[in-house]
Amino acid sequence: MPYQTKPYPEWSWSLSRDQMFHACKRQYFYHYYASHGGWLLSAPPDAQTTYRLKKLTNLYLVLGDAVHTAAQKLITLREQNRTYPTKEQIVTYIRGALNTAYQDSKKKAEWWGYPKQYTMLHEMYYGGELPRERVEAVGNRIAVCAEHLLMSESWREIRDADNITILEVEKLNDFIVNDKKIYVKLDALYRRGDGTYVIADWKTGKVAEKNEEQLRLYALYLHEYYGVPLTHIEVRTEYLLDGFCMRSVLTEEDVDIIRHKISASVRSMESYLDDTYYNRPLPIERFAGAGETSVCGMCNFRQVCTEKQ
Ligand code: SF4
Repeated sequence: MPYQTKPYPEWSWSLSRDQMFHACKRQYFYHYYASHGGWLLSAPPDAQTTYRLKKLTNLYLVLGDAVHTAAQKLITLREQNRTYPTKEQIVTYIRGALNTAYQDSKKKAEWWGYPKQYTMLHEMYYGGELPRERVEAVGNRIAVCAEHLLMSESWREIRDADNITILEVEKLNDFIVNDKKIYVKLDALYRRGDGTYVIADWKTGKVAEKNEEQLRLYALYLHEYYGVPLTHIEVRTEYLLDGFCMRSVLTEEDVDIIRHKISASVRSMESYLDDTYYNRPLPIERFAGAGETSVCGMCNFRQVCTEKQ
C-alpha cells in the first residue's frame, strides 16, 4: 500500500501565512491546501504540480537565504571557537549559492523529479532566463550585505562579548495564542550577561511595515514561551542593505496589537474553512484571485491559476 498522508494539512498560523492570505486568497488556497500531499508519487497530478510550484523561489530569496546561512555559520563558528571567514569568503559563498540556484534551474526535469534536492528560480521557470537588471540588482547587494553582516551590532556583540548565551539560531519553533499553534523562526536569540534577551533579525531587503509586526510577534513568543518580561527583551532588526540596526523594547500595548491581529486573522482564515476540525477548506471557487497584475506577476501559481491577471 502506498504511503498515505492526511487528507488536509494541520492548521497553524504564521505571519507569512497571514501575508499571503491578504495578498491573494487563491494563492493562499494553492499554497496551503491544493499542494498538500503533492510530494507523494501517489498524489493526484494537480497536487504534484501545485506542490512543485509552491517550492519555486527567486533570486532575492536565494540571496536572503544565503546571507542567513552565512550568519548562522558565523554563530556556529563562534560556538566552536573557530576562525571566522573574511568578507571575501562570505561573498564567494553567497555567489556560489546564487550560481547553484541558476545551474539547478536549467535542469527542469531533475527538479520536477526531486523538487527538494534542486532549486528552481521563478525567473527561469516562467521567463526562461534571468532578467539582466535583476541579476545586477542582486549582484550589487552581495558584497554590501556581507560587509554589513560582519559589521552588524548583533554579530559584533555575539563575537566579542564573553558572557553571551546563544539560545536559538534559525530554529522553527511554535507556541500557543488563544489555543492556536503559531510558528516562528528567529534568526538569532541570545542572552547577555546582564539578563537581557536579544532577538536579532537580519534583513537583506528594504525597511517595510511588516517588519514591525514580525518584531511584535517575536517579542510575544519570547514573553509567552520563555516567560521573559518585556522589559528584558531587546528586538533588533539589522538592515544589511543600508547598514543600520533598529533596536526596540516593546510594551504590553505592542504585544496586545499582535495578539489581536492573530485572533482577527485566525477568524478570517477559519471563515474559509468548511470544517475547522479537519482543516477542510471551502471549494476553490470561494478563494478569489488578487485581481492585480503586480501580484500575479510574482506568483508561483500562474501556471495553474484560472484567475491570473
Ligand atoms: S496568479 Fe494571481 S490570482 Fe492566481 S493565485 Fe497567483 S496572485 Fe492569485
